[in-house]
Amino acid sequence: VVTKLLVVATVSSGGVVVYSGARPFNGAYADAGHAAGKRVNKKKVVVLGTGWASTSFLKNLKDPSYEVQIVSPRNYFAFTPLLPSVTVGTVEARSIVEPVRSIANSNGLDVEYREAECFKIDAENKKVLCRSTQDSKVGKKEEFEVDYDYLVVAMGAQVNTFNIPGVVENTHFLKEVEDAQRIRRSVIDCFERASLPSVSDKERERILHFVVVGGGPTGVEFAAELHDFVHEDLAKLYPTLKQYVKITLLEATDHILTMFDKRITEFAEDKFKRDGIELKTGSVVMKVTDKDISTKERSTGEIQSIPYGMVVWSTGIGSRPVVLDFMKQIGQGNRRVLATDEWLRVQGTQSIYALGDCATINQRKVMDDIDKIFKKADKKGQGSLKVDDFKEVVNDIIERYPQVELYLKKKQLNNFVQLLKNSQADEELDIEKFKSALSEVDSQMKMLPATAQVAAQEGKYLATCFNRMEECERNPEGPGRFREEGRHRFKPFRYKHLGQFAPLGGEQTAAQFQLPWDWVSIGHGSQWLWYSVYASKQVSWRTRFLVVSDWGRRFIFGRDSSRI
Ligand code: FAD
Repeated sequence: VVTKLLVVATVSSGGVVVYSGARPFNGAYADAGHAAGKRVNKKKVVVLGTGWASTSFLKNLKDPSYEVQIVSPRNYFAFTPLLPSVTVGTVEARSIVEPVRSIANSNGLDVEYREAECFKIDAENKKVLCRSTQDSKVGKKEEFEVDYDYLVVAMGAQVNTFNIPGVVENTHFLKEVEDAQRIRRSVIDCFERASLPSVSDKERERILHFVVVGGGPTGVEFAAELHDFVHEDLAKLYPTLKQYVKITLLEATDHILTMFDKRITEFAEDKFKRDGIELKTGSVVMKVTDKDISTKERSTGEIQSIPYGMVVWSTGIGSRPVVLDFMKQIGQGNRRVLATDEWLRVQGTQSIYALGDCATINQRKVMDDIDKIFKKADKKGQGSLKVDDFKEVVNDIIERYPQVELYLKKKQLNNFVQLLKNSQADEELDIEKFKSALSEVDSQMKMLPATAQVAAQEGKYLATCFNRMEECERNPEGPGRFREEGRHRFKPFRYKHLGQFAPLGGEQTAAQFQLPWDWVSIGHGSQWLWYSVYASKQVSWRTRFLVVSDWGRRFIFGRDSSRI
């Protein structure tokens, strides 16, 4: 403890000469202040990204024996669940961001931050190649490389456009703080343009047609926020324009919010109808031009052209090019998402970890484990189990892999759940049937949802492993930390699903929690729960104060519609 205190005290007082580990491509030391010496005996940890996963990792890392370098184009953490509120000014952009340097310094560790993006991971030589986000004096971006002993890849994902023509050029994404700010300006722009005297009524109708593509939680929340903004604030300022405003939500499947309980989906769809938000389900976007969006009806094949003033694209995520390139290097080129083992180690590498939206735990491994659990239960090898034993095995699987329960709950395995419920106790159930139903679902989507909740839990888990890593190496005989040869020394990562919210506008929110029973609550009460949870989840007291005061400001004065 004394040594740790001394190390922390010396580092924070600037008493140790620190070599950052970053050098430009010509090999010279990048940082003159650090050139005097190289830090010895410290393992270099490089963290790529400043989002949910990496911030949680940094906040929970306590062991001072690492030299940590963060590389990210964003020098702040953004509380993404409140981004839809930023698009209409319910909450200000600066209220939901926290500088990464203050997060990194909060636990007194040896952490450096570089504002740059990683454009190549060189796994063989254990280094990452980076490019600054700002131009240097000579108008070029600086390039440099950073060596690591351990690499933590937490770069998140990018918006998936499915290569649909015109999406990148003509729509707004809602992924970053800048996107939300752009959307806010664009909404006001539409209203100001529509109020010009030279604009015809038909054109006014087009300009004030707001289209949201994607009926997931983000698209739904944005549509609801926009509806509230228009009806609570803009209608008073632009009274003659209210009649022209239209909000349309396009969704390719048959329902919105499919990851939620059916009751929530039904409530949300009814509420949107009552609010006058047009819901077009079964509509697949084919092309977007600067004024029209072409859709194809899945049931009839009919092609429609919808004139619009602004489109927000929120249809899911895909891997970043740098991650795809890395996957090719390590033999994962045939996959869509970077695969890790259950300890979050990238498969095919030794010292690279990946967490959050940029990675997924290898499903094959999960399916193999499920296979083993069944084999153990089916002692006679009959390929079937009695109903009660079957239920026990399913519970066992859920305990190990809570995400499987999500699929059961989402009724993806509806037939099987019904079968389990309706069968007599002495009936035998076919194991293969269940496994193939599960793997079908499994191959369609990631086993873990791409959420902040997953990313934050993964970050915390990895930090806990890193906090104990040195101690385990020093003390290999310690209490059960090292298992037999070839196995990982820590318990595998287990995701704990706590629940989810879907704000639906008009001070109403849908909430779904995994208590011992499935708890669903919709309405004004859940809205207050949402306020409390999101206030408590803020990354610092500063942002907590700012967010809560923004909510108060909005209640008293409404949202600001200035176009700045
Ligand atoms: P991110 O948080 O996206 O962070 C990625 C980081 O990597 C960023 O700092 C980025 O700048 C950096 N980066 C990018 N490229 C590079 C590069 N080349 N080199 C280095 N760094 C790079 N989840 C919930 O659980 N609940 C919600 O209510 C919710 N609402 C959401 C609302 C919106 C509008 C959005 C967009 C997402 C929402 N999510 C929500 C999902 C959640 O934000 C993500 O699952 C979460 O951010 C994933 O965390 P991450 O750390 O993997 O990635």
